[in-house]
Amino acid sequence: MTTGSTGSTGSPGTDDAPGAPGTEHVDHMDHLDHVDPACPAERVRGCLLGGALGDALGWPVEFQRLERILDRHGAEGVRSLPRPLGALAEVTDDTQMTLFTAEGLLLAERPTPEAVLPAVHAAYRRWLRTQCEAAPKPDATGLLAEGWLYASRAPGNACLSGLEAHAGPPGSVPVQPGERGPVNPDSKGCGTVMRSAPFGLLGLGVDRAFRLASDCAQLTHGHPTGYLAAGAFAALVERLVAGVEPGAAVEATIRQTAAFPGAGETVAALERAVRLAAEEEPGFDTVERVGLGWIAEECLAIAVFALLAAAEVGPGRALTLAVTHSGDSDSTGAVCGNLLGAAYGKRALPAAWAAEIEGRETLLRVADELLARR
Ligand SMILES: [Mg+2]
Repeated sequence: MTTGSTGSTGSPGTDDAPGAPGTEHVDHMDHLDHVDPACPAERVRGCLLGGALGDALGWPVEFQRLERILDRHGAEGVRSLPRPLGALAEVTDDTQMTLFTAEGLLLAERPTPEAVLPAVHAAYRRWLRTQCEAAPKPDATGLLAEGWLYASRAPGNACLSGLEAHAGPPGSVPVQPGERGPVNPDSKGCGTVMRSAPFGLLGLGVDRAFRLASDCAQLTHGHPTGYLAAGAFAALVERLVAGVEPGAAVEATIRQTAAFPGAGETVAALERAVRLAAEEEPGFDTVERVGLGWIAEECLAIAVFALLAAAEVGPGRALTLAVTHSGDSDSTGAVCGNLLGAAYGKRALPAAWAAEIEGRETLLRVADELLARR
């Protein structure tokens, strides 16, 4: 994600020019069945892996307008992962921060707000180090020891500044729902949503998943829409992993979110996504009517639109829909991939892409560590 980002701004490090190395195009009408709801392992693994796929698919076109994307990739949109010089497909801050969210949750002594807030803040400060340092120190442990996570690929301003400003969680976080938090009080960038899937992967229930994600979102973004959209996303992931059908899971999440003061923008964006998914063709122009994804509620809404479209077009095409637009393509792709994986499991994701994704081993290992805590 980015909105006037620091770090490696401008052109991504990959080349999406015609003829660039890439994976094969994916057959979009892939097999799509619900996995066994009694076995969440496939869904938890799919959630983390799917997020990385969407991130990598969207990153090369994050700063491009729709017309330019279609001009370069063809009328069917972005359908292949770039692999510069035969390397793995690159992921960005969305996947990096998601992994650090998971590490914070795993290191928290208990899954309570009091224990999780400082543990996740400490994990985000470790992510911040990866954006400031070139490579792991010799004594690094955990995710800090993984050199591939030190890539700086357009991290968001509010995430960076909010974490730089506070060595620990500010005492006034969390605020009452609807109030402005103390860290970047006007920020509602999608950096809250794109990192929050793991809150829905521990089987803590929809209320606690929402609460933990919303509280931890306030570590960098104080606008109510920024943190409530993150809560809604985590609760939706929780429902999908539990086996709730996507349409019903979205409706239940909208009702849950609407109960919070300050949730008007998030609820309106989600209701617009549901309406457009029901009434319109799942095309790129329709995606842009949902939003552009730079802000939290639009990022979540685009991902939800594509999730709902997947029932008709399959998960590969849904990922293409989630990134082929003029907005924050890597974050909308990442959040959509999290939802698709949580709904349909790892095996439903395009296998050709999953085999070529950077960090695959780490993502699946962390997924299994989360599963062991359920
Ligand atoms: Mg990104």
